Amino acid sequence: MDEEAFRVRFWGVRGSLPVSGPQFIRYGGNTACVEVQCGRHTLFFDAGSGIRPAGEALMAAAINDFDIFFTHCHYDHIVGLPFFFPFYDPKIRVRLWSGHLAGRMTTWEMLSEFMRPPWFPVRLEICKANLDCKDFVSGDILRPREGIAIRTASLNHPGGCIGYRVEWGGRAIAVITDTEHEPGKLDPAILGLIEGAELVVYDCTYVEEEMQRYRGYGHSTWQQGVKLCKAAGAKRLALFHHDPARTDAQIEAIEQEAAQAFSGAFAARDGQVLDFVRQTVKQR
Ligand SMILES: [Zn+2]
Ligand SMILES: [Zn+2]
Repeated sequence: MDEEAFRVRFWGVRGSLPVSGPQFIRYGGNTACVEVQCGRHTLFFDAGSGIRPAGEALMAAAINDFDIFFTHCHYDHIVGLPFFFPFYDPKIRVRLWSGHLAGRMTTWEMLSEFMRPPWFPVRLEICKANLDCKDFVSGDILRPREGIAIRTASLNHPGGCIGYRVEWGGRAIAVITDTEHEPGKLDPAILGLIEGAELVVYDCTYVEEEMQRYRGYGHSTWQQGVKLCKAAGAKRLALFHHDPARTDAQIEAIEQEAAQAFSGAFAARDGQVLDFVRQTVKQR
């Protein structure tokens, strides 16, 4: 494994519901799952349907110790968990982190309430992997592995949601999904998380013209993502959490428009890999 890698891999980029069909082939149909590799450490953000193929890749690469961070637990962000094969392997150690329900429900309670009959045939206890559940409070700085700092903040989403900023090797990547913006305002919590980031993964479920209709749904637009990135000096913007109805042709048109407004903008797609070099390169 590349000790210097700072790599992002999108396993699922869709919001709300997985989709399939010829009109979704280019950008993909799996729901939220983003892998961030920091040297030999593997982190996941959310466990939507995209975490199922991610599990297969982990097993193939014999990676048996990693972390999963939940932004929140709406179905599109956890539905892949029962089908994440590493959970059933006794060789695996997983640390699971959440903070959006702080004071209301622990990470263990959140997962075991979700994975149980009659909604799923078996309970979480059947998993043979070592599942180490961690609870945190929004605003905490997490240090899951040596050299990695993860800043957290609350986003504007029904039921609560956590945004993350992963700092490693002098660079930062932010995962900001799901959140709704207030018209004409830039959320200071988000600006703090994305400041000078190499990459901002941002909730672009809607476009501004649609916001009137979807006010209160808890989602944002690429136009707001561009404003935030420009204000915070972030370099690249990944349009993420695509609406399930959005076809490849529509996302492509949105991507072109976004890239004209901000050259670092692109629409994330399933299977896409981005490499960022460490700033603090070892002396040779
Ligand atoms: Zn969502
Ligand atoms: Zn949500």
